[in-house]
This record gives sequence, structure tokens and C-alpha cells, in this order.
Amino acid sequence: MHLADHQARPIEIAKGEGCYLFDRDGKRYLDFIAGWCVANAGYQRREIIVGVEKQVARGLFVPAFLRYRGWEEFARLLSGIAPNKKLTRAWRCTSGSEAVEFAIKCARAATGRKTIVSVDGVYHGHTYGAASVGEACTDDMSPCLPGFLKIPMPDSRRGPSAAAVLAELEKIFKENDGVAAFLSEPVWTNAGSIIPPKDFYPSVQKLCRQYKALLIMDEVATGFGRCGSLFGSELWGLQPDILCLGKGLTGGYGTMGATLVTEEIFQGSTNIPSYSTFGWAANDLAAAQANVELILKEKLWENAARVGEYLRQKMRPLEDLPFVGEVRGIGLLLGIEIVRDKSTFTPDYRTAAQLQNMCAKEGLLLETAGSALFITPPLILTKEQADEGVKILEQVLK
Ligand code: PLP
Repeated sequence: MHLADHQARPIEIAKGEGCYLFDRDGKRYLDFIAGWCVANAGYQRREIIVGVEKQVARGLFVPAFLRYRGWEEFARLLSGIAPNKKLTRAWRCTSGSEAVEFAIKCARAATGRKTIVSVDGVYHGHTYGAASVGEACTDDMSPCLPGFLKIPMPDSRRGPSAAAVLAELEKIFKENDGVAAFLSEPVWTNAGSIIPPKDFYPSVQKLCRQYKALLIMDEVATGFGRCGSLFGSELWGLQPDILCLGKGLTGGYGTMGATLVTEEIFQGSTNIPSYSTFGWAANDLAAAQANVELILKEKLWENAARVGEYLRQKMRPLEDLPFVGEVRGIGLLLGIEIVRDKSTFTPDYRTAAQLQNMCAKEGLLLETAGSALFITPPLILTKEQADEGVKILEQVLK
């Protein structure tokens, strides 16, 4: 073994088709992960493959210091569909982590302030800035970056309440010498498909405007239809000043991220390093273009809303089981919370991992996020495929 990898599960994938993955022996898995919110359009989509093949045949690579028409066209396309019409500038990069790094750099540069506030327990990427603003900075890699403050995640069952968290946020805004930005996801995906209380984000947005802090939405996982809307920000009427994109941007057919900012923020961040050698390389760009066009043409968020609600309702009776705390989610971002004690909702990570492995044996791939079974199928999932997944879940859980 030469690969540096501490995490891989013993399933070797050889092929993908629609909502299914196949291992080397030809075993078929219904894919309820979609590469962790990546393969929104599903696998082997002809339109995307043709777009990529055409571009690869051109054999082109354009360095970031020259011009390329495709960059301008795609940036315009993203601006046109973004949840805030003022997001008129797109930085090119290669991943979600890099998109978050750009967001942090731009927020600090454009505001002249240093502090970024985020929600505790939310993952935003693996690079130092993203790991520090998120929950991925471990002791072994410390020191983490300075300048980050965290507020707790509101939790209507165990507390703190949304009102208490908002009060804490306002206190931070008041006590610090100006906060550059608040950064979070519109729905907390990696924490276990947790939906914020209804009034939480509209109030956060209000506070940001009041204290002149920028609102940064990390839509690396929620973007491009996952939550039943094109962007998760739309769920709460948010108009982010900065938007981080990745994952579903290429659907896995390429490797790209993007950070959308307003003209004002762009003008305020002239002096930050932004050279990403492979950011929007021509082949990846072709993949992203074809993928986003397909998502828009097929309005995949509508299917995510329809089939997601169907799947959630079908899974709902699992809440009667003694170790299922909650079946939750929105669109095709769903979770089944596994608990040790239903009266206290004590998380049971071990059982969640065991259930995940048992599902895989039965031909259903899912992940764990926190103590929840994390369910994020491709957005082309049909009701029949949803039934197929529920049947395996029932078989394993009951
Ligand atoms: N932000 C969120 C919400 C994510 O879920 C992830 C990855 O899981 C990232 C950022 C980092 O993206 P990447 O793995 O492409 O660097």
C-alpha cells in the first residue's frame, strides 16, 4: 500500500451509472451518498461526458495570467443564478476548501477587520483557514489560525435556543472591534443534516447588516439543488455577500471551486494572493459548464424537493425504533439520528457506523455525519429507488 489514507472503507468502486455504483466484482450499490453532495446529476450523464470529451480533444490549458473566454462566460452564468444578484465576481479555484479560503481572505481584506464568526461543529474544509473556521483543526496540526470565534449551534431539544445563540452573536458583534464576517452553511450538512430553526438565519442576516459584518454562505455542499432549491440560501431569503461553491458545481466530472463576491468586496481585495494554477482549468470548466446547464435544464432541485419529501416521509416510521432520535432533513439532504438514549438524545456513533456497514453489505451506500446516517442521493433519484433504499434501511434497522 502506498496511498496515504486513514479513512477508506473496504469497498472498491469501479463504475457508476445513474444513482448506482458498482464494485470490482460487479456488486451494485444504490448510492445514497453521491460522493457527499457531489454527484447531483448522477453518474454517466451523456451530456456532461460529451462536453468534457470535446474539450479534452482540444488539449488546452490556459494559465491564470492569460484570458480565456470560457472563464468569463461561466462567471456570468454563476452570477446570473446566485442567490444575491450583487454577486458579480467569481474567483477561480479547485475545491471547496479553497473556496472557503478565498472567502476568509476577501472578507478580511475588504472590511479591514480580522474576526470571523462561525457555528461550532460545522465542517468547512481541510486547509488551515477552512479547518480553523470549521471544526477540522486537530491538536496534532495546531496551532490553528487566529481570528476565529464560534457560536454554538442552536438546538431546540437540548438547547441552547436560537434566541440565546443570537444574543451571543450580537454580544460578539458588539464587544469585538468590528467583525469581518459571519460564515456558515444554510443547513448544517456535515453536522448531520441539521435544519436551523426558521427564524435563525433571517435574524443572523439582520445582525450582520446592522453591525456591518459580511454574510458568507458556504454552499459547497448545499449548492446546486441539494435542499430542494437551487441554493440553500434561498430557504431563508438570504442574500450572502460571499458565496462558496464546490462539489455539485462539477458533479464530480471535474475538480473546481468558486467564490462569488460583490463588486465592492472584489475591489477591496486587490491585494490578496489569488493565483490557483488549476483553478477552472479548461477540462474541468467544460465539466462544470455541462453539469450546471444540465441541472438548470432539468431543474433538479424540483425533483430533490419532491422525492426528498417522499423519502423523508417513508423513513419517518423509523422514529418508532428505540435508537432512532429523529428522521430529518430537507430536499435530498436527509439524516437519521442514532441515539443511545431517546430521552436525552445521547448520540451513538458506534451504532451509526455499524448500521452504515450493514447497509453497505445489503447494497445501500450511505455515510455517517455526527451520529446521524447521512443520506444525500443524486438528485435524479426516483420514488422507486427511494423505496428500494427504504426497504434496505428497514431490513437493517428493524
Ligand atoms: N464546505 C463544506 C460545507 C463541505 O462539506 C466541504 C467538504 O466536505 C468543504 C467545504 C470542503 O470541500 P473540499 O473537500 O472540496 O475541499
